[in-house]
Amino acid sequence: MLLTHEHEELRRTVERFCREQLNPYVDAWEEAGDFPAHEVFRKLGDLGLLGLTKPEAVGGAGLDYSYSVVMAEALGACRCGAVPLSIGVQTDMATPALARFGSAELQQEFLAPAIAGEMVACIGVSEPSAGSDVAAIRTTARKDGGDYVIDGGKLWITNGAQADWMCCLASTSDGAPHRNKSLIVVPMRTKGVSVARRLRKLGMHASDTAQVHFDGVRVPQRHRIGDEGQGFTYQMLQFQEERLWAAANALRGLDNAIADTIEYTRERRIFGRSVLDNQVVHYTLAELQTEVEALRALVYRATGLYVAGQDVTQLASMAKLKAGRLTREVSDKCLQFWGGMGYTWDNPVARLYRDGRLASIGGGADEVMLSIISKIAGTLPRGQA
Ligand SMILES: Cc1cc2nc3c(=O)[nH]c(=O)nc-3n(C[C@H](O)[C@H](O)[C@H](O)COP(=O)(O)OP(=O)(O)OC[C@H]3O[C@@H](n4cnc5c(N)ncnc54)[C@H](O)[C@@H]3O)c2cc1C
Repeated sequence: MLLTHEHEELRRTVERFCREQLNPYVDAWEEAGDFPAHEVFRKLGDLGLLGLTKPEAVGGAGLDYSYSVVMAEALGACRCGAVPLSIGVQTDMATPALARFGSAELQQEFLAPAIAGEMVACIGVSEPSAGSDVAAIRTTARKDGGDYVIDGGKLWITNGAQADWMCCLASTSDGAPHRNKSLIVVPMRTKGVSVARRLRKLGMHASDTAQVHFDGVRVPQRHRIGDEGQGFTYQMLQFQEERLWAAANALRGLDNAIADTIEYTRERRIFGRSVLDNQVVHYTLAELQTEVEALRALVYRATGLYVAGQDVTQLASMAKLKAGRLTREVSDKCLQFWGGMGYTWDNPVARLYRDGRLASIGGGADEVMLSIISKIAGTLPRGQA
């Protein structure tokens, strides 16, 4: 992936947004367990940052995916993981399928306002009984007249409590599990939709994560994204962008944790010298910096190939896997070098330790990434997921 002047401009704009519009409020939002998504998204929409890769006909900038990756990386300048996660759900997890396969009418009604920052979106795939095994979801959408009637529920829904609409995966027939599902836009204020509860979590405190119930929820069939029965396939495609985004978004947080740790250990003196002067400390940090650069190279390579039109399922899965593992390693090793200070709640590395743990679970656990990589490598035993 080649970074142009336009990429650098975008990077600076996003970093400035983090510095001026997010970081001064992050601690209060983390404390409150929420952040004002509509207010923040409106500002992002005004800057044109919610539709970089979306069609110009609906207010997007029509750029290629490398711009999304640059924005994901630059959002790492935000001093928490929760707000970038929420933004990523809006731009790269809940909306790619609608932009690619949705009718013009559906795009005008739901995608255009999401790009403008007037509506907040969420993605509803996971359920209480199905996370890794997406094909096992139980939410159904039964045809009745011109409508679908949706029953079931979703768990772990980022933005769930504040969202205006959900890109919801539901079974629309009884057929084979990979061919009986559809993606449907469900307005969250529809009768029968209820947010059962907000979940208390280890990290990502400022991001609302909800359990959502559907009880006889009626939506017009024209709310279906693309063809009936293609939802599983569309979602797998949508996952490619989600996973590239997640890996790119991890990079800056890792850079920051290492930089903060260098600064702290340089100042902190024990046994007559700075902590950083111990070889085990500066060698460890040098090794971690090298690993982060290797991850960055993988993310950029996958992005370059994706922009060139190649299927990067395997590379995107590798990047997501590596990002999750490296985030755990960097946050753990850096936290150690802060001693007791690393164990305090507000320490930035402690926040990465909490927030970053999600990277190995959300959007497909490490083991799911390993099974995808193995499947494409031809080493996964037949019939095994
Ligand atoms: C904070 C947060 C936000 C989230 N946001 C969203 C959202 O917005 N929308 C949404 O739809 N979902 C969301 N999720 C759900 C997330 O994608 C799932 O948690 C994830 O896919 C794992 O599913 P699960 O929790 O049901 O774990 P399970 O499927 O029960 O898996 C448990 C564990 O089993 C192991 N495992 C899984 N597969 C294999 C395998 N093939 N071989 C060996 N071991 C395996 C893994 O270690 C895995 O962690 C979110 C989750 C969290 C925690």
